Amino acid sequence: MNKYDIIIVGGGPGGLTAGIYAGRQGTKNLIIDKDLAGGIGREVPEMENYPGYESISGLKLVEIMKTQAEKNIEIHEFENVESIEKINENGYNFILKTNKNEYFTKTVILATGSSHSHLNVTGEEEYLGKGVSYCATCDGLFFQDQNIIMVGGGNSALQEAIYLNNLGCNVTIIHRRDEFRAQKHLQDIIKNENINVIYNATIEEIKGNMLVESVIIKDTKTNQTKEIPTNGVFISIGYKPHNKLAQQLNVDLNETGHIIVDKEQKTNIEYVYAIGDVCVGLKQWVVACGEGAIAATSAYQDLN
Ligand code: NAP
Repeated sequence: MNKYDIIIVGGGPGGLTAGIYAGRQGTKNLIIDKDLAGGIGREVPEMENYPGYESISGLKLVEIMKTQAEKNIEIHEFENVESIEKINENGYNFILKTNKNEYFTKTVILATGSSHSHLNVTGEEEYLGKGVSYCATCDGLFFQDQNIIMVGGGNSALQEAIYLNNLGCNVTIIHRRDEFRAQKHLQDIIKNENINVIYNATIEEIKGNMLVESVIIKDTKTNQTKEIPTNGVFISIGYKPHNKLAQQLNVDLNETGHIIVDKEQKTNIEYVYAIGDVCVGLKQWVVACGEGAIAATSAYQDLN
């Protein structure tokens, strides 16, 4: 019978932690992930701020978490939750329809995460996989000893620029302002490693012939444009929350589309909780994991 007490939609760090906690509560629980569990957490090249590990890659930590979660909860990967509907049927409050099945559940934890924002410039889509990438850890090796551009000025962009520089790529960071928003620690490494930075510049177009060959950049102060040859363009300009299921349930969102939750990870809809990058708040692994523990506990308490 496809009937559960807690269904967690999304198997990133937050979802896996919620699964570990839910599993140990003795309720009947399930994690459903549209891809491989781990989400975009798999792409983090190196983390130095997850307690217990001085340095660990996102991929490695996800694998450890997943192995631990599997001991506690059923996980369905490559299954996409297409809809969630509120019902009132023999104690079950929601029906989830996936591309494979239908599930009844008493509570739902939305851990649906986010996906890479796009620049929306000419050539970005055309050259995706042909020089344009949103994932340094996935594609960096193809660009060893080549010139690449990293777009963005946040923690992700700088972390990935450092990773690509360490791989042997010749990195130039292009940032639209005159200062980074990334942590000082990362800015110091960029300086110490002499990684080239072009401030006050935006990418106007990505050009090529089968593969990326150059970008047109615009100086935001003078409005002058110029063409820079490059073999690759890595784009790391933030994330968009996956809030489609939240919207189906009429869950309250803020102005950027992130789910609003209280301190118990409860949304405005009874028996719906949300955690991790889809929520308002600090985007950190350790935060998503903490929220997962809280949400699983809240759901359990609300069921009893
Ligand atoms: P982010 O912090 O939102 O930074 C996005 C960067 O891209 C900003 O520098 C922004 O410029 C730039 N940008 C946005 N739209 C742009 C556009 N259309 N064209 C050009 N540039 C654009 O995103 P993130 O670095 O991916 O990080 C996401 C979250 O994860 C953050 O909360 C971050 O702190 C967290 N994170 C933490 C760590 C860590 O703790 N080590 C590592 C990775 C990520 P402006 O600065 O001008 O707005």
